[in-house]
Amino acid sequence: MAGNFTGRYLSNDHPGPGKLVMNKNIVITALLLSAIVVACATSPTGQRQLRLFSESQMAEMGSASYTEMKKKTPAAKEAAPNRRVQCVSNTLTAVVGGSWEVTLFDDDAANAFALPGGKIGVYKGLLKVATTPDQLAAVVGHEIAHVQAHHSNARLSAASLTDVGLQIASTISGGSAKGQYMMAALGLGTQVGILLPYGRAQESEADVLGLNLMAKAGFNPNEAVTLWQNMARQGGGQPPEFMSTHPSHSTRIADLKARMPKAMQHYEQARAAGKKPNC
Ligand SMILES: [Zn+2]
Repeated sequence: MAGNFTGRYLSNDHPGPGKLVMNKNIVITALLLSAIVVACATSPTGQRQLRLFSESQMAEMGSASYTEMKKKTPAAKEAAPNRRVQCVSNTLTAVVGGSWEVTLFDDDAANAFALPGGKIGVYKGLLKVATTPDQLAAVVGHEIAHVQAHHSNARLSAASLTDVGLQIASTISGGSAKGQYMMAALGLGTQVGILLPYGRAQESEADVLGLNLMAKAGFNPNEAVTLWQNMARQGGGQPPEFMSTHPSHSTRIADLKARMPKAMQHYEQARAAGKKPNC
């Protein structure tokens, strides 16, 4: 068999299992590089994107990571915060469509995430910073926007050309249990100790898309500015996903204000159409 032949050949040439692993990685790299030719796409705001993975592969990774998260972190039991998180998330996802699962985790971190495959996670600590439904919608909307804009796919595709990316790629193709790399690629790096953050351009794009999304759902987009101001005041500790690689707070707030007139149009249209979320 071809696989055996390759293995014997390599072990004669350079003994040791390391060489065999390298050989596997070279094969994966070659496969990924050959896929690049057909994988260039455009993000919702017109950025060029490399997408090497199919929607169903991304959804599978998202679901597997979510299952992993739920094993590690218990869900919060309190009724009122659960109601608010479900209500805000469902109102937002009604705008983008599809079916989504939402979990409020019993964790003090001020963080949230959304994953391909329709998964949303909010940590209880976020509710101390995002103190109103509109502010919570700003964060969850930003996270959903990352998914809408295929940022995990783009980031994972770019990372496939690096060492960490090779480990991710071999996880996917080999099916072995190296879930932490997969989770890092999906924006859960802080949870598993491997940082593979979204790029600054992706953060800005998620801000713009998220702002319009919350407005279309009937949440007041001005509250996004208040939210980031709250976050800036909070400071210290581990920066949550939606703060980690972004330009300074003042740049972010200035960018949001520049986008506000358009977002307010969406908001007023939504309100006129009777979208008045009561979360
Ligand atoms: Zn983000």
